[in-house]
Amino acid sequence: MLNGFYSKKITELRDKNNMSVKELADGTDVDEQTVLSWETGESVPTAENFYKMAKLFGVSMDVFFDAEEHKKSIEKMNGMESLNQLYRIGCGPSSSHTMGPEKACILFKEKNPNADRFKAVLYGSLAKTGKGHCTDKVIENTLAPTPCEVEFDCLKSDIEHPNTMDLSAFKDGEQIDFIRVFSVGGGRIELEGSKSANEPIVYKLSTFKDIKAYCKEKKYRLWQYVDEVEGEYIWDYLRVVWKTMKDAIERGIEDEGVLPGGLEVQKKAKYLYNMEHIGESAETRENREVCSYAFAVSEQNASGNRIVTAPTCGASGVVPAVLYYMQLKHGYTDRQILEALATAGLIGNLIKTNASISGAECGCQAEVGTACAMAAAALGELFGLKSDKIEYAAEIAIEHHLGLTCDPICGLVQIPCIERNAVAAMRAINAVNLASFLSETRKISLDSVVETMKKTGLDIRSAYRETSEGGLATLNI
Ligand code: SF4
Repeated sequence: MLNGFYSKKITELRDKNNMSVKELADGTDVDEQTVLSWETGESVPTAENFYKMAKLFGVSMDVFFDAEEHKKSIEKMNGMESLNQLYRIGCGPSSSHTMGPEKACILFKEKNPNADRFKAVLYGSLAKTGKGHCTDKVIENTLAPTPCEVEFDCLKSDIEHPNTMDLSAFKDGEQIDFIRVFSVGGGRIELEGSKSANEPIVYKLSTFKDIKAYCKEKKYRLWQYVDEVEGEYIWDYLRVVWKTMKDAIERGIEDEGVLPGGLEVQKKAKYLYNMEHIGESAETRENREVCSYAFAVSEQNASGNRIVTAPTCGASGVVPAVLYYMQLKHGYTDRQILEALATAGLIGNLIKTNASISGAECGCQAEVGTACAMAAAALGELFGLKSDKIEYAAEIAIEHHLGLTCDPICGLVQIPCIERNAVAAMRAINAVNLASFLSETRKISLDSVVETMKKTGLDIRSAYRETSEGGLATLNI
């Protein structure tokens, strides 16, 4: 990851200045744990942190953003994880607030089959926004039928990670087991005292340029590279992914009522799906249907129901919306849809590896922008476009999301997230149409736009990166 470049640079400058971790933490107004996470590449400093470090070290900001160094850093990267780490199946609305706790509860329940009662205590961000994110509902449902009491402790501040959770198991009134879990993002968890190992690297190539060249040499379509690397297993996995996506759409277009969290947002997928006008044009119908599918998945996500991260919970509606619409309209087989999902997965994986798919790290361009690029690439595969045109479609899709902020109202994945998924699904259709006419004239590559997205994300102020401190989040509604 690019994080590796920054982490090396920060450690190098701190050593050169004979500065301890504590001194750097004090000088940048963060805690020591945060500095350590920068230096181990687990997180990236904000633009404000970079500014403070540049002043402390007496260097120019450019030191952190040297284009040549960046390039070398990218070249040194050696591969990508399996698509099963990008497409994760679980309960929304947030991979860190619902998928991580769900995973922890599954493990704890398996470990304690004889427990007659569980207790969960949530701390930090899990406690402060857990109610809106349905964390308690996910915990109770996962541990059921054994009852579980869920407590939100918003006051405890001496925690090792902002998303911390304690789980206790009881039998006949006696505590029989206890674990402390950290939900570290993307649905991943770590148990206190044992850091989880990194996921294995399965793809040796990690730029679109290299993958395209390899596929041209082997006369492969992009999904055939996925097949060669991951083998038969991935098709079984993608089949479950596609079924979960379809289930979410089909549940969503039947669902009604108000979303949880207190914003009183009405579910609209069913209304959109059914509101056909007399004499509706084909274009309007397409727009309405695609948007209703995107609303359906996004509303299921916001309700804490089962979805697939594509690439995240917040952006989970874009890819399924376009694929479901195209399958119904043109009769593509499930196998063709799986090949399109594999192609989309490659694009999402490239962005995850070389930039970011996290709204907290790079704004919504990294979430919905990536989902749009994935959807455009998936459509390119369905339409049988060559890899140059698929690249162009994905590049258009992400390019026109550059700078998009993440400012959800009340921290709930509802406004603007749900509509944004629908708009991005339509934009993906536009992007692939444009690419199919114009690819010979394009000037920039997908890899360079991905790199630009990362740099743009680092320039976005933290108020606009999933903190609910700026933009739409400041509106009184
Ligand atoms: S606004 Fe933020 S929370 Fe909502 S979809 Fe975009 S990145 Fe995710």
